[in-house]
Amino acid sequence: MSEFKVRDDWMQFCVPDISDAEVQAVSDTVRSGWWAKGPRTIEFEKTFAEYVGAKYCVGVNSCTAALHLALLTQGIGPGDEVITTPLTFASSANTILHVGATPVFADIDPDTGLIDPKEIEKKITKKTRAIVPVHYSGLAADLDAIGKICDEHGLFLSEDAAHAVETRYNGSLIGHRPKGAVSYSFYATKNLACGEGGALVTDDEEIAKKARVLSTHGMSAGSWNRYGKGGSWRYDIEEPGYKYNMFDIQASLADVQLRRMDDMQRRRMEAVAVYEEAFKDVPQLRLQKTPDNVHHSRHLYILRIVPERLSISRDQFIEELKARNIGVSVHFIALHTMSAYAKRFGYQPEDFPKAYAFSESEISLPMYSTLGADNAKYVADAVLDIIEKHAK
Ligand SMILES: *Cc1c(COP(=O)(O)O)cnc(C)c1O
Repeated sequence: MSEFKVRDDWMQFCVPDISDAEVQAVSDTVRSGWWAKGPRTIEFEKTFAEYVGAKYCVGVNSCTAALHLALLTQGIGPGDEVITTPLTFASSANTILHVGATPVFADIDPDTGLIDPKEIEKKITKKTRAIVPVHYSGLAADLDAIGKICDEHGLFLSEDAAHAVETRYNGSLIGHRPKGAVSYSFYATKNLACGEGGALVTDDEEIAKKARVLSTHGMSAGSWNRYGKGGSWRYDIEEPGYKYNMFDIQASLADVQLRRMDDMQRRRMEAVAVYEEAFKDVPQLRLQKTPDNVHHSRHLYILRIVPERLSISRDQFIEELKARNIGVSVHFIALHTMSAYAKRFGYQPEDFPKAYAFSESEISLPMYSTLGADNAKYVADAVLDIIEKHAK
């Protein structure tokens, strides 16, 4: 192999894709004088529902808020159990604790990193009320199998689709005719980004109504418009809700990003192709498998090292990448090993051996629409250079 040359500047792990259109849209909204939740939020909710093919969309200020609202709409609370994966961001399980229920982890399929339906079945008790599968990294969880389990046991399906804008399952976008509720994130690093933001999507009118009211303090519907000529100053608080709504500056950014999605995804896939080609026959690496009926949104590029075939650890591998000016991350540090969970539930790392092994061997490489094939080639060369020097 030719000599690897370290670049001069630091390559970010993730950067948002900003065009003039985003700047213009935010500027227009700011100048319009209506900054809070208003016409642009309502328009975006309509556009996003149409885009995924769902009946209703409630714009919120984070995916965490959407996940919380989804459980609240079902009255899930103390004494109830909700099953989710330990290979996820804290929100998937934190929100179960927020409603007073107990999160129950089910281990993953090591080929994909997705929650394993067979492991879910082992965890079902009389107290189980819901399942929160995560479409990890942009792969769709096995919704046929999970949906069947939900039907058989009368459980609510609350999908964590934080990574899943553009993810397809059986040919349709995630969120297309959902059984329960689907929660999206528009956080700065996600495929569709507006800084902070999210959406709850559903086909169920009751869920949409409840989530909408709970997202604005529990105020009776239509309250955003109470300052208009046709509006009324009078409103009711139906129940003590939350301050979770999306607002118009966010919505105008999200709207432009959605319109640019095809182009952004196309460029993301160019970088993916470079990685896939470079890593396909490397025995020190394990790539994520994509099931036949799934289209991967590639929110994250998941690389796993094979520890037995390297003389350095995963952590040292990350240091080697950093020394080559490449920013990387790990998705995720298994949630059951985090002190809040380990202490409260007495978990040991080995309690979920597959998620733990996955988490301990994983490295997320830079992956975003502005990365470009040349930068991806640089990262791939760096990975191969490290392997060449440290292979066993
Ligand atoms: C980012 C993320 C969330 C939380 O999204 P926010 O919009 O920041 O609340 C939830 N679940 C997963 C899997 C995530 O990666």
